[in-house]
Amino acid sequence: MIVLKSPREVGLMRQAGHILADVMDRLRVTVKAGMSTLEIDADVEAFITARGARSAFKGYRGFPATVCVSINEEIVHGIPSARRKIRDGDIVGLDLGCVVDGYYADCAFTLAVGPVPAAVQKLLDVTRESLDLAIKECWPGRRLSDVSHAVQAHVEAHDLSVVRAFVGHGIGRALHEEPQVPNFGDPGRGPQLRPGMVLAIEPMITMGSWEVKILDDGWTAVTKDGSLAAHFEHTVAVTEGEPEVLTRK
Ligand code: MG
Repeated sequence: MIVLKSPREVGLMRQAGHILADVMDRLRVTVKAGMSTLEIDADVEAFITARGARSAFKGYRGFPATVCVSINEEIVHGIPSARRKIRDGDIVGLDLGCVVDGYYADCAFTLAVGPVPAAVQKLLDVTRESLDLAIKECWPGRRLSDVSHAVQAHVEAHDLSVVRAFVGHGIGRALHEEPQVPNFGDPGRGPQLRPGMVLAIEPMITMGSWEVKILDDGWTAVTKDGSLAAHFEHTVAVTEGEPEVLTRK
């Protein structure tokens, strides 16, 4: 069942989302070559706590950290570690959520640290653009798969691949609610979007094949062929009119 949120509930999710928007702004400045991924995690956890919110990921199904840090061929769910240092030329996926008064918001973006080849920059740009195009579909009356199709059409037009194994999701009083929001599919299918639906839309895109494997830590998802991957995510509320990106200020 897709749970519709009241304006009050969307308001709490907006509070959570705006904290995440500030975290993303901060990470764009603070993440540098030489930093460990655990340092990033500690900084973000302190920031979220100081804002009166709680990490959505820490303890979720046993995940040990606040931020998923996924570098290069890692797609999602990388575990922060004191031993893993950011290097120049890395692309760093940063995925996190927070909770305000029981209501969740979820976001992700992928950052290039130092100069990267044009093809890698294109991966990041096309992934971010595919998310923006998906958000533009979130008007009442559109179908859920219109959102999915917008991602796939843009990504495949640029000869990149859509990961199938992970999808976006409804979000609200839980981090993951119905419906699932795939990043692929034909348009015009699935439930109609209605005001009060809130979706976490999160394209995960690779430069090679879309197949994934999970590392021995039980969490980190990497591309099977070792190709680079990017991940962008926003929490988006369907309204009576224009969609509201709750994780953007
Ligand atoms: Mg998510």
